[in-house]
Amino acid sequence: MARNIFLMFGPPGSGKGTQSEMLAKALNLPIISTGDLLREERRAGTELGKQVEAIMDRGDLVSNELVIKLVAQRLNDEDSQEGVILDGFPRNQEQLADLLRIIRETDALYLIHVDVDDEVVLERITGRRVCACGANYHIKYKPTQKEGYCDKCGAELEIRKDDQPEVVKNRLVKYHEALQGILNSNKFKQVIKINGQQSIPEVHNDILEEVEKINNYEDID
Ligand code: AMP
Repeated sequence: MARNIFLMFGPPGSGKGTQSEMLAKALNLPIISTGDLLREERRAGTELGKQVEAIMDRGDLVSNELVIKLVAQRLNDEDSQEGVILDGFPRNQEQLADLLRIIRETDALYLIHVDVDDEVVLERITGRRVCACGANYHIKYKPTQKEGYCDKCGAELEIRKDDQPEVVKNRLVKYHEALQGILNSNKFKQVIKINGQQSIPEVHNDILEEVEKINNYEDID
């Protein structure tokens, strides 16, 4: 069966994770997020998790070989057979080439580019605070009742290692390198550019509007 594969592409802090979740719900498709898969490996303390720890904390990319394995496994799963949303993958041309090798000829690739300026990214990310219990906050956009402490469990909040300003700048450099490489590809059925500097529901509506056009064309075929 032909699948639509949506690649959610945007800088760190563009809200692509949130948008992937909203789109996944609307289309009833699974999300394959390489960042989440890698963080899961770390939490579970696997060999692979230990191997990528320092690389991730610096904001560098882990090896292509390793991520493509994770993606290939998930793409083979039964719930991925009608289409998927890929979040955070591919990150460079090599990963795109790897992806093209493992998908079917009938699969259609759509790039959803969530565009956000670097200054906005820095403001969004460096204000993030997390709690060991899993809760997430932002000092400006989602503040806690007591500054620096979790509303849910009362523990002291932390800054994710890869959310430190110098690391975010490094992640942005990597992102811009990746963006050029990916945009140069002619392997996408369509590139959908979305203004990511709107509210979360507005970004979602813009994405959905474009995706529904694709589905309508397919119905006509
Ligand atoms: P993310 O949650 O997508 O921002 O990813 C967090 C970190 O995981 C990145 O800074 C990388 O270290 C690693 N990572 C996630 N996806 C990839 C990928 N496709 N290729 C290489 N490294 C990745």
